[in-house]
Amino acid sequence: MFQYRPERIIIDKAVSAEPLTEQICASFPEVSKEIVDNFAWHQDESNADPLRNPLTHGKKTLHLKYFRGASFKVCPGFSDKVICCNYFTLDLIENCPFECTYCILQAFLNKPVITVHANLKEILEQVRQRTTVQPNTLFRVGTGEHSDSLALDPVLGINAHVIRFFAKLPNVLLELKTKSKHVDHLLDLPHGGKSVISWSVNPEAVVVQEEHKTARLNERLKAARKASDAGYKVAFHLDPMIHYPEWEKGYQELVEQIFDSVPPERIAWISLGTLRYISSLKSVVDKRFPNSRAFLGEFVPGEDGKMRYLKIIRQRLFRNVQQRIGKLAPQIPTYLCMEKSSLWKNTMPHQPQSATEVESRLTSSLRQLILMET
Ligand code: SF4
Repeated sequence: MFQYRPERIIIDKAVSAEPLTEQICASFPEVSKEIVDNFAWHQDESNADPLRNPLTHGKKTLHLKYFRGASFKVCPGFSDKVICCNYFTLDLIENCPFECTYCILQAFLNKPVITVHANLKEILEQVRQRTTVQPNTLFRVGTGEHSDSLALDPVLGINAHVIRFFAKLPNVLLELKTKSKHVDHLLDLPHGGKSVISWSVNPEAVVVQEEHKTARLNERLKAARKASDAGYKVAFHLDPMIHYPEWEKGYQELVEQIFDSVPPERIAWISLGTLRYISSLKSVVDKRFPNSRAFLGEFVPGEDGKMRYLKIIRQRLFRNVQQRIGKLAPQIPTYLCMEKSSLWKNTMPHQPQSATEVESRLTSSLRQLILMET
C-alpha cells in the first residue's frame, strides 16, 4: 500500500493557528506551505498543465480549510425511495488518496485536491450540541462519506482527537470506515467502546482489479483483528459487490475469510450493497481506468437516479452472501444499503418497513455488545 505525501499544503488564513493545522504541518516539515485568504482550485496556476491527470495530480495538494457549513448531518443516501439505516455523517476530509475505479467522488467533488476541515474543535462541538438535545437516541455517526476514514490518518492524526471526543459522549457511536490497514496508531487510545472500525471488503480479485492503492484483503482483515483485540467493535461492508465471472465463489470465500479473521461475536454489523453510480461517472472511469471491468454488464436506472444491476442479479448476489452469513453467524445483524423493501424480500431473513426498523436492529446489537463489555 502506498504512503501519501503532498507536494504542497495550502492553508486558509482562518485556520492557520488551529492546533490541527500546526500538527499536520509538523508532519510534513519539508513540504512547501502557502497561507491564502480563500483557496480557489479553478484559479490555481499549478492546474494548468493539460498533460497531467487533474484528478490524480490534484490529490497532491493538501488544503487545510475553515469549514463554515454543517459538517454533521443526516446521511445524504437517505431517501424515501429506499430503506436506509438512519445514519449521520461527519465530514472532516473531502477526497481520498486511494483510487477505486468505481469511486463516486470522481464525479461528485468539484475540486480534485484533498481538503481537511481544520477547525476540528468547532466541528466536534456541533456534534455535541446536536446529540445532547436527544439524550435517548443512540446516534451512529460515520466519517467515511467523502473520503476513506483512515487512509491518511497515520500522517494527519485526526482520528485520535475524534475517538477521544466520542468516548465521552454518552449517546453517540463513531464509525470509521476504511479500505486501509492503518490501525496501529489507534490501538492504545481510550476509545471507551464508543468507536466501531469498519472495513469495506471485496474478494481479492476485485481488490486487485478495481481498488487501486488500497490495502490488500488480507491486510484489511489482519488490521480488523488487531482492532478487535484492542477492544474496538468492528464491522464489515460488502459494498460495492461486483458481479464478476467468479462472484459466487469469491463472495462465499470472502465471508469465510472474515469469520476466520475476527470472532463473529466482535462484529457489530455487516452491510451489503451492489455497485451503483450516477451516469456521469461512467465517462470519467472510461478515461481514467480503461482496464476496469466494474462497469461491464447491464445496468438499469433506479428511482433515485442511480444505475444498478438488474434486480434479479442483485437478489442473487445478496442471497448468496446472506445465506452464508446466516449459516456461519446468524446473530450478526445484516442490512442492505440503499435498496427498496422489495429487494429485502427473498434475500434477507427479515423485511423492515422503515429506516427506523433497520436502525433499531443495529442499535440493539450495539447495546448488547456494550453490555457484554460492562
Ligand atoms: S476508498 Fe472510498 S473514497 Fe477512497 S477512492 Fe475508494 S471508494 Fe473512493
